[in-house]
Amino acid sequence: MVPASQHVQTLLASYPDFPLTGILFRDLNPVFADALAFRAIIDDLRERYAGQFDAVAGIEARGFLLAAGIGYAAGCPVLAVRKGGKLPGTVLTEEYDLEYGSARLELEVGQLPAGSRVLIVDDVLATGGTVAATARLIERAGYLPVGVGVVLELADLAGRTRLGDVPVHTILSL
Ligand code: AMP
Repeated sequence: MVPASQHVQTLLASYPDFPLTGILFRDLNPVFADALAFRAIIDDLRERYAGQFDAVAGIEARGFLLAAGIGYAAGCPVLAVRKGGKLPGTVLTEEYDLEYGSARLELEVGQLPAGSRVLIVDDVLATGGTVAATARLIERAGYLPVGVGVVLELADLAGRTRLGDVPVHTILSL
C-alpha cells in the first residue's frame, strides 16, 4: 500500500505567484481527485487520532472534504467552520491574519454536547492563523480542540507554534 505522504508528494501541484506575487500556492485538488490518494489521506488522519475525538471540524472549503470523509469513516458528527457571513442563527466569530490578507471564521453554537472532543482538519497549515482561529472557536463553543490534522505543512512558516498544546499531525511537511 502506498503511504499517504507518498501520494501527496507525487500528486501535489505548486503554482508560483498565485493568488498574489510571492506566494507559492500548493494545490491539493489533484490529491483529492485521486481515489486511492484521497482514501489514504482520510485513513491517515483518522487513524492518527483514533479513539481521541468525538467530532471532526472542517475549515471552509477544502477542510470540508477532509472532515466529511473522516466523519463518515469514523461515524462521528461533522462541524463546518465557515468564512464570515455565511452562517445563520447564533454564531461565534474569530478574526485572524492569513499568509495573504485577513479573514473571519464562524461557527454555529449548540451543535455538540459541552466538552465534546473535536479534531480540526484542513488542507494546508501555513502561518497557522486559520487553524488557531478555529481552535479558539471550538473552545468558545464549549468543546475541546484535541488535535489538528492537515495534509500539508509549510514548515518555514512555523504555523504549529501558534497552536499551543494542541497536537498537530501533518501528512507531509515541506
Ligand atoms: P494559514 O492561516 O496561514 O495557516 O493558512 C491556511 C489556509 O490558507 C488554509 O486553509 C490553506 O488552504 C490556505 N493557504 C495558505 N497558504 C497557502 C499556500 N501557500 N498554498 C495553498 N493554500 C494556502
